[in-house]
Amino acid sequence: MTFVPANEGIAKLKPYQPGKPISELERELGITDIVKLASNENPLGCSAKVKEAVAAELAEIGRYPDGGGFILKDQIQAQFGVVHDRITLGNGSNDLLEIFARSFVSEKDSVVYSQHAFAVYGLVTQAINAQAIEVPAKGFSHDLDAMAAAVQANTKLIFIANPNNPTGTWFEEAEFDAFMQKIPSNVIVVLDEAYVEYFPENFNSLKFLDQYSNLIVSRTMSKCYGLAALRVGFALASVEVTDYLNRIRQPFNVNHLAMVAAVAALKDEAFIEQSRVVNKAGMAQLEAGVTALGLSFEPSRANFLLINVNADPAQTFAALLKEGVIVRHVGIANHLRVSIGTEAENEKFLAALAKVLGLEAKA
Ligand SMILES: *Cc1c(COP(=O)(O)O)cnc(C)c1O
Repeated sequence: MTFVPANEGIAKLKPYQPGKPISELERELGITDIVKLASNENPLGCSAKVKEAVAAELAEIGRYPDGGGFILKDQIQAQFGVVHDRITLGNGSNDLLEIFARSFVSEKDSVVYSQHAFAVYGLVTQAINAQAIEVPAKGFSHDLDAMAAAVQANTKLIFIANPNNPTGTWFEEAEFDAFMQKIPSNVIVVLDEAYVEYFPENFNSLKFLDQYSNLIVSRTMSKCYGLAALRVGFALASVEVTDYLNRIRQPFNVNHLAMVAAVAALKDEAFIEQSRVVNKAGMAQLEAGVTALGLSFEPSRANFLLINVNADPAQTFAALLKEGVIVRHVGIANHLRVSIGTEAENEKFLAALAKVLGLEAKA
């Protein structure tokens, strides 16, 4: 092999494997009625108001977007009570996760995150060639005590997801507060709340922002808001932390149509409420269906369920693909992650699962 001088971190990097796109499976199978429950997207798509807002702005495509993101920051400020100077916009929250790591972590430093956490935490750490400290999970949940105890003198950043992807597990405010008390103020804690809109009554992260200047709350418009294709996320933090994040953020990382869509999506609370209702109903449907098949699942406060299929997950995933159902094999023995879909999608998944595992539903 010829010598290609990639930096050490990137030379060892295994890239993120996204959920299989519907179009790809359509080409492979030559069928069109495919159900994708693999990437935790909103099964309702996006709000009709988002489509109207984007359509009205198409003439602006020829111009650079507002690099400061004024309209979107204004909407975030109005809705969450966090001022412009404390907001960082991202091209999806994946972009932000990378910005966090690049802003605060160098090669000699370490990053703490949990086993069974979001795969991107390990990837952004590896890209810097920093040390990853992966703390064993407690069951499928973050072990916050063990994570606090794992912090070393060279630890610069901790990634935490609540609820966690791919397990759906969560922790309460008091547990998080106790955790934050133990973390030195020079260690950045990223609280990744990609699914917070689904069960908002359970955790108010924003009140911790004033208490802890080392806290970053990360949100995305890709899941409940239904804007996955447009790539918008935002981070809330202290003015000082936000200043660093914005130094390396690309000046036009969020495009104009995405910002317009995000504003419309944030304003349409009725759509979010409807998405919650559909999610709760779908979760109940999947839980009942899985239980009737004699299988178990991990209780979830997100829009997906980690199911113990009691079989090899790679083989089960492949067999489901042949039935036109795309789910996610997340590297956990015997388990598959299934996004909650519409009633019809969930039904198709349950029927396919029963078929490929040779199980029969008991009433
Ligand atoms: C989906 C997800 C994200 C990222 O989504 P973006 O589309 O990049 O905003 C971030 N964190 C977790 C835990 C997720 O599940």
